[in-house]
Amino acid sequence: MIEDSIREEFPILGREVNGKPLIYLDNVATSQTPRVVVEEIARLYGTSKANVHRGVHTLSQEATELQEECRRRVQRHINAESHEEIIFTRGTTEAINLVASSYGQRFRDGDEIILTVMEHHANIVPWQLIGNHADVKIRVVDINERGELDLEQYRSLFNERTVMAAFCHVSNVLGTQNPVKDMIATAHAHGVPVLVDGAQASPHLRIDVRDLDCDFYVFSAHKMYGPTGVGVLYGRKRLLEEMPPYQGGGEMIKHVTFEKTTYAELPFKFEAGTPDFIGIAAFAKAFDFLDRIGLENIEAHELELLRYTTSLLTELEGVHIYGTAPGKGPVISFNVGNAHNYDVGLLLDRLGVAVRTGHHCAQPLMERLGVPGTVRAGFAVYNTKEECDSFVAALKRIMPMLM
Ligand code: PMP
Repeated sequence: MIEDSIREEFPILGREVNGKPLIYLDNVATSQTPRVVVEEIARLYGTSKANVHRGVHTLSQEATELQEECRRRVQRHINAESHEEIIFTRGTTEAINLVASSYGQRFRDGDEIILTVMEHHANIVPWQLIGNHADVKIRVVDINERGELDLEQYRSLFNERTVMAAFCHVSNVLGTQNPVKDMIATAHAHGVPVLVDGAQASPHLRIDVRDLDCDFYVFSAHKMYGPTGVGVLYGRKRLLEEMPPYQGGGEMIKHVTFEKTTYAELPFKFEAGTPDFIGIAAFAKAFDFLDRIGLENIEAHELELLRYTTSLLTELEGVHIYGTAPGKGPVISFNVGNAHNYDVGLLLDRLGVAVRTGHHCAQPLMERLGVPGTVRAGFAVYNTKEECDSFVAALKRIMPMLM
């Protein structure tokens, strides 16, 4: 059972929406932020703001130390071999764009990239942008009726033209947890590097990039009880060293003349300009929070809420759930009869329940499922069974208006 004291760490959970207590189930889009993170942001803006890496003065050195401490924190958290393999970005989206535009410069006409039908647009569009310099073909792995990847098809898609495989660890719509370790081994057997989109895995699962043996792993702080505007690209050092810079500017250079510029060492080669150093420093506090509660405890709690709510929803005639893979993550996508997902979301909001509606940045998956969108509820550490009961009661209340 989740302790009341955990909820008290999230001031926002005490607020009302439309005169009802807030039931926040939009955690797949972003999770709420505990007081330790909020207070760290306020503290740093209030007492310690100075730009990183450029100053000899005390405040700048303090800011630099906090940022680099967070880098080492991320390194330990995902078991990367070196802090040089941790690049701070604005989020998952920017991290994938970085890899696609930098590593992707080596791709040539006719090369092939393997994606899956359950990818977020962030793991589709950056690979299409490579089309600006090379005519790269995207091959797509399908799913079965439970929302699991067709692994036989995945294996069959590799050939001598395959240059990259990129897929999510956990689907933001279906909740499916993909067997990424095996999928990475398959790709490596064909000499193909792998990028794993960990945006939906990192808030719930312990990530070990060395155990997975992935080449790139990306995630966002704001889904992990951290601040907005901060994300991580883990990259295998050998590959990062070979890759050209992504953006040019301050911080990423060794020496600049108008004729020629030499670049900084890793990880700074990929961190042009002033980073969100206060956000990064505050991200370290989110790791404190995760470690204090324990990822295993967080996952167990969320999976219990998933099991409980799924069983309640299954009893409701007219509710259809998308994604029923065993071992799925704590997300439920569903529709109610022929009602539009937007109407369901709007009515639930009147009752204080925040869910996400629409295509969830996964239009190809919506097309595959044959729906314009779904309603999506996702669970975080602070949600309770009582909230799940209230959510299902609210749904029961609005269903007669929709069907
Ligand atoms: N990939 C997945 C699987 C996601 O769920 C999300 C966020 N919904 C993203 C990528 C993009 O993350 P961000 O917007 O933080 O860059």
